[in-house]
Amino acid sequence: MKTIQAYRFALDLTPGQERDVLAHAGAARVAHNWALARVKAVMDQRAAERTYGVPEEMLTPTVSWTLPALRKAWNVAKPDVAPWWRECSKEAFNTGLDALARALKNWADSRSGKRAGRPVGFPGFKSRRRSIASVRFSTGTIRVESDRKHVVLPRLGRLKLHECARKLARRIDNGTARIMSACVRRDGGRWHVAFCVEVERPERLPARPGAVLGVDVGIRHLAVLSTGELIDNPRYLTSAHQRMRALARALARKTGPDRRTGRRASKRWERAAARLGRAHTRVANLRRDGLHKLTTRLTREYATVVIEDLNVAGMLANRKLGRHIADAGFAEIRRQLTYKTGWNGGRLILADRWYPSSKTCSGCGVVKTKLALSEREYQCGSCGLVLDRDLNAARNLAALAADATTAGSGPAAGRGADRKTPLAGLVALKRQPGTAPAGQTGTVSPQGETANRVLARAH
Ligand SMILES: [Zn+2]
Repeated sequence: MKTIQAYRFALDLTPGQERDVLAHAGAARVAHNWALARVKAVMDQRAAERTYGVPEEMLTPTVSWTLPALRKAWNVAKPDVAPWWRECSKEAFNTGLDALARALKNWADSRSGKRAGRPVGFPGFKSRRRSIASVRFSTGTIRVESDRKHVVLPRLGRLKLHECARKLARRIDNGTARIMSACVRRDGGRWHVAFCVEVERPERLPARPGAVLGVDVGIRHLAVLSTGELIDNPRYLTSAHQRMRALARALARKTGPDRRTGRRASKRWERAAARLGRAHTRVANLRRDGLHKLTTRLTREYATVVIEDLNVAGMLANRKLGRHIADAGFAEIRRQLTYKTGWNGGRLILADRWYPSSKTCSGCGVVKTKLALSEREYQCGSCGLVLDRDLNAARNLAALAADATTAGSGPAAGRGADRKTPLAGLVALKRQPGTAPAGQTGTVSPQGETANRVLARAH
């Protein structure tokens, strides 16, 4: 199975190498800003001409904003715009132009409705102070040295890795990996190189080919598995919160930058900002490490994993819960499970966003109309089952796997798409007034279409 995968390593740059990389990142920014100004000038000119009533065919001609067109225009203009262009690799300018071409395409597609998800804004100019320094090389000498402690990149030469690259080097040596590009980037105060690699992965089967696992993600426990296992929520951000508040307070007391007066930040402010940034990076690193270990373990073991299709973007908007949900990384769990089930020969089933996994009894299938968030125990009125609320939900999710047909319920749908899990054994009934099943006397909530849809066994 061929996949595109990233291998990312921390770098130890010498001061001279750091200057070189920053010069390349600056070159990318210059090309980006120059091309953006050119596209904007033509767009503004056309808009102005339209207001004067100039007919459509007499307007200033449009400029193409595809990458080849931008590159061609840049190569004509670069002796004037950047007389120093020979000092940097052409890949540096390509990095900036490529970013712009993508940004403009995303903006245009979003405006014409071709792109799902949130609206994308018009690209802005990049600033030396605010943008993340990065440069991507896609041609030339890109290799990992045989000592596995150094990488060689065009123009930048031999860079020392902070960690050993043996995982990637082994794959390259036995011919199952091919480096397509390398991106050097500064994030969280540290330089990284990320290789975009085409990897030939061996076909794998999960350790338990027939096994089904329901995963109920939450805040109290990061995940409750249908096997009864509880995965603790480490709450990295909560534990680091106090220190971060202190760092943020210390930062606020120092002389920061002011865009109105053009005041530069003080050295102390910059050092304090870096300290706060490192604290955030540490939280992100801990979280990513924990989630990867969890999702790898689950997808290596179980052939079918069922999770709920949660509206994470909507939940993040909740002021009280948003921080905790972001800290737990719900969306990241789902993203990792999606591709890792593919790598390990399993499949992921997404339960419909409106599927009442918490309200259904995992013993007899009766659906409660009301279940307060404070009720931590699920108590069934018809069969007398008493079970932890989240474990009940996880078991219901696992049971969905038997009902869901294989077709159409594999990997996650694209962003913005609202795909429903087909349920073979369950049909949706619209409840009519006075037809509530025995034992359920709840009223239908007036605004919720969720409450109107009751799932009942068809057979
Ligand atoms: Zn029951």
